[in-house]
Amino acid sequence: MSLFTAVEMAPRDPILGLSEQFNADTRADKVNLGVGVYFDAHGKLPLLECVQAAEKNLMRAPSARGYLPIDGIAAYDQAVRGLVFGADSEPVQSGRVATVQAIGGTGGLKIGADFLKKLSPDARVLISDPSWENHRALFTQAGFAVGSYTYYDAAKRGLNIEALLADLNAAAPGSIVVLHACCHNPTGCDLGSAQWDQVIAVLQARGLTLFLDMAYQGFGQGIAEDGAVIGKCVAAGLNFLVSTSFSKNLSLYGERVGSLSVLCADKQEASRVLSQLKIVIRANYSTPPTHGGAVVAAVLNDPGLRALWEKELTHMRTRIQAVRQQLVDGLKAAGVQQDMGFIARQIGMFSYSGLSREQMLRLRNEFGVYGTDTGRMCVAALNDRNMGYVCRAIAQVL
Ligand code: PMP
Repeated sequence: MSLFTAVEMAPRDPILGLSEQFNADTRADKVNLGVGVYFDAHGKLPLLECVQAAEKNLMRAPSARGYLPIDGIAAYDQAVRGLVFGADSEPVQSGRVATVQAIGGTGGLKIGADFLKKLSPDARVLISDPSWENHRALFTQAGFAVGSYTYYDAAKRGLNIEALLADLNAAAPGSIVVLHACCHNPTGCDLGSAQWDQVIAVLQARGLTLFLDMAYQGFGQGIAEDGAVIGKCVAAGLNFLVSTSFSKNLSLYGERVGSLSVLCADKQEASRVLSQLKIVIRANYSTPPTHGGAVVAAVLNDPGLRALWEKELTHMRTRIQAVRQQLVDGLKAAGVQQDMGFIARQIGMFSYSGLSREQMLRLRNEFGVYGTDTGRMCVAALNDRNMGYVCRAIAQVL
């Protein structure tokens, strides 16, 4: 007997567990639509040219790997602030944004969660129903009671804005509300400009704390378009947190590069907040890793590489949009009667297909087509080679 004898087997992570199952599947025509990763037209994970060029430049004068500052590379934090808020924006110019480099978007959320827990230990955290699976786990692990607000209307295959506003209106003042800035995961259904205005007004009226999760900037409509909500929140006078990630938009998944920014009232407040974020980081993992942040800073701070990145990002985004339409057309050609046009209207990497758990299980078991039990499929994993097969498989289970 030891302390560990009674340890129970934890359930597999719903998404990463699916990938493990996929990897063990020996069928040649298997397709993984489970994990949220962008693959190119050849089914390959891209290594962006801008990243390769930045790495070559870095290798010309290789640097020793000393510890970074707790809040990361200064040039990285500055570039992130510019990307998220606008380099010439009032919050950046006045120095009232506290930004730290984080271990992916997940790390940014976790630093923010730990920081908020110290400030407001009894606050309830509200996440969208449904949401990225890890939101609930992450805020629960940080010690919060986690509830949800209505987001999606499955029958309408769209946003349920009335219920969303009603739920936020009913939230206790001081509640922390996590909203996806763009490319909502898993539904692919975003708030429109007027709906953001309504939500921001409720956040303000009810004294709710906004935590924006922006993991897909540039994957929806464009960098500026996807980040437009930030400008709205600034204009409304909100003080809020925003986490970001370069996993998808720079295809740097494994480098774990993300950030957390906190928009404060003024520069002094921002420096106090930054000092507290550093305390949280120090006690979690001390300092961030060097390579990913250096690559991102090199890309964002070099006008040529930045332009190349935007071109490559546009290519990824437009490919996803084209694939969505091909999927709609392919399903029709495969004999699906119902109107699947909603797939082309959804935004970002995912399609919330509306397929039931049973249908998703059949797809997996009978056809080796892997999506999540909730019906979420990553359309960015589709290409000319697997599209027809996937469409026929879906047609069979529908
Ligand atoms: N938030 C959302 C909504 C996501 O979908 C993801 C990635 N799947 C993340 C955060 C985390 O991103 P990262 O992989 O950079 O930690």
